[in-house]
Amino acid sequence: MMLRETFPVGPLQCNCTILACADTKDAVIIDPGGDAHRIGEIVAYYDLTVKAIIHTHAHIDHIYSTHQVKTEHGGEVCLHRDDMALYQGVAAQATMIGVRPCETTPVERFIEHGDTIEFGKRNALVIHTPGHTEGSVCFEVHNDRDTIVFAGDTLFRRGIGRTDLPGGNMRKIVTSIRDRLYTLRPDAMVIPGHGPTTTIAEEAAKNPFVTA
Ligand SMILES: [Zn+2]
Ligand SMILES: [Zn+2]
Repeated sequence: MMLRETFPVGPLQCNCTILACADTKDAVIIDPGGDAHRIGEIVAYYDLTVKAIIHTHAHIDHIYSTHQVKTEHGGEVCLHRDDMALYQGVAAQATMIGVRPCETTPVERFIEHGDTIEFGKRNALVIHTPGHTEGSVCFEVHNDRDTIVFAGDTLFRRGIGRTDLPGGNMRKIVTSIRDRLYTLRPDAMVIPGHGPTTTIAEEAAKNPFVTA
């Protein structure tokens, strides 16, 4: 059994998720882009131990509360190396979208394609999907018979991430989605970085930007 809480955080409504092994209460936090208070309430409610803070990419709306969550709950801060420039440039990102800059905390583990991030008896598999940013990754998690894919800003319901920001590349995002997401289990649930959930099969058939 796995516990999962997904909720939108921050002004850009990034989907933050807390995932935990129900047996051990070990947890990972995916994209703490804001609302550290609510994250703290959920961690306390289930009495979770935060093992890792993992990021689909380093845009400010996905990392805004990383420092605060790390300070309050611990957990190894994980990011793909190719997004380090964005991570270190978070002050410039804040200026660009007109929000107060956030404090940052050092990245402790560079995650790569094929890595697994353990939490209790569960783990999240890292899938490198460059295109929205160079270091964009998705996380694939198995929950009993179900598969969940945390797609960050790579794949949305009937949409894909923008590629006009620094590090963006249209050709790469299309290749990432076709070769590394549409090849996953068709019935896998997709939780995008923003907006409603979908499935791999639905997007492969109906996504207007990238079909299988
Ligand atoms: Zn983004
Ligand atoms: Zn985003």
